[in-house]
Amino acid sequence: MEYVPVIGLEVHAQLLTRSKIFCGCSTEFGAPPNHHTCPICLGMPGVLPVLNRRVVELAVRTGLALGCEIRALSQWARTNYFYPDLPKGYQISQYELPLCEHGTLPIDLPGGAGEKRVRIKRIHMEEDAGKNIHQAGGAAAGTSLVDFNRAGVPLVEIVSEPDLGSPEEASAYLKGLRDVLVTLGVCNGNMEQGSFRCDANVSVMPAGATELGTRTELKNINSFRFVREALDFEIKRQIEVLRSGGKVVQETRLYDPDARRTQSMRSKEEAHDYRYFPEPDLQPLRLDAGWMEEIRTGLPELPRDRMLRFERQYGLPREDAQALTCDVDPAVGVLFDEVMRRYGDAKKLANWFRGELFRALKDGEARLDELKLTSEAFAALLGLVDSAAISLNAAKEVFATLLKEGGDPAKIVEARGLRQVSDTQEIERVIDEVIAQHPDEATRYRSGKKQLLGFFTGQVMKAMKGKGNPVLVNQTLQRKLGSS
Ligand code: ADP
Ligand code: ZN
Ligand code: MG
Repeated sequence: MEYVPVIGLEVHAQLLTRSKIFCGCSTEFGAPPNHHTCPICLGMPGVLPVLNRRVVELAVRTGLALGCEIRALSQWARTNYFYPDLPKGYQISQYELPLCEHGTLPIDLPGGAGEKRVRIKRIHMEEDAGKNIHQAGGAAAGTSLVDFNRAGVPLVEIVSEPDLGSPEEASAYLKGLRDVLVTLGVCNGNMEQGSFRCDANVSVMPAGATELGTRTELKNINSFRFVREALDFEIKRQIEVLRSGGKVVQETRLYDPDARRTQSMRSKEEAHDYRYFPEPDLQPLRLDAGWMEEIRTGLPELPRDRMLRFERQYGLPREDAQALTCDVDPAVGVLFDEVMRRYGDAKKLANWFRGELFRALKDGEARLDELKLTSEAFAALLGLVDSAAISLNAAKEVFATLLKEGGDPAKIVEARGLRQVSDTQEIERVIDEVIAQHPDEATRYRSGKKQLLGFFTGQVMKAMKGKGNPVLVNQTLQRKLGSS
């Protein structure tokens, strides 16, 4: 029997606020342990949470961008469990009446098989827990320390419907989602620092079946590669269990990246009974319709929308449109639009972005947030190349200067004597000279040794100090060598 996988993802994204969700402590990453704490986020008795308005704004922004219905009246709930990193003994979250429901995230199916609209079940706000640090060696080996800096940091949990049909689709969804959150400015998307984390639910069912199989939940998959690897392993494992007559047990499993396998962490019997109930210390959350409209109006163009627009508007191939819009700083697309207002050849411009600009950004030679190169200068430089006023190599040299210092490309070209010689008389004169100096090679060329064209081109360019217009040099050489 053939089995097909079914995957649903739960993503926790840290919202980009300066202070925590229910107190004024800083959310800054990397401070000394327990530096950003107060009686509220340490769960001291007698204190009350005060909701950070910015958290709600960023969560609404997220929900609207993902096409969700936003609840005008939502509710806070307590998730009760005991763990050392949870000082209050409960987490403030949302349960029955979450802020957002029924959204979608469109993704590209792998291998150019079209688009899929992955349904988003819900998005709710909650506070993060602290962090347990288990001492592996030294005098304190075997003991654990707790750092509460992260306790009370604001999160949104984004839960997808089980719409993903392969590890590749799951990875495309995660990348697309991270791109949206980063573009919205609601999350920095950093998986290593844990500001973008994912749990994957996966089951398998016979091909063509309509009833979903029993699922397992995979934890500890905090890189795009681990997500694919863990799901690959788990899908194979479940299929083997079923093929050998067994049953998949509903449980939480931990991915071990070194062994490349998942291991049972806790089964359903040990699963938490969270005893959810409405949070008595916080009022239900009532949203103002005008405020929501304001947030909606302020939404930026999303990466995928921009990609599709670049294809439509500029006739760019998918690969270019994608490279300029997805998984890059949104400022890249903004700059591209600006240059295109002054320049006509989108494909050539895309090549410059993906080549020279991206390389310079990667090497740290330029930064998008303080770019010296203006869109006018960029367009003017490409114009100089198109009109054969400068060679491609000279243009790259000028580009590097524009990135470092800014300025006017035409002036830089003049100052450095980079202007290319397109004067046909001058080119002909040099070529005649070169041919006269190399009569043997000319004879061999004419008797069929056409590879010698490269030799002649080299000689001419050398005589012209590299400034001959290569197209003209080439044409003229062929004509002169061919005749007589
Ligand atoms: P719970 O309420 O038990 O947490 P949810 O219905 O909220 O369950 O689902 C949690 C996640 O698991 C969602 O992302 C959902 O898409 C996914 N999911 C649910 N059932 C399955 C299944 N049979 N196979 C794969 N994923 C599933
Ligand atoms: Zn605090
Ligand atoms: Mg759940």
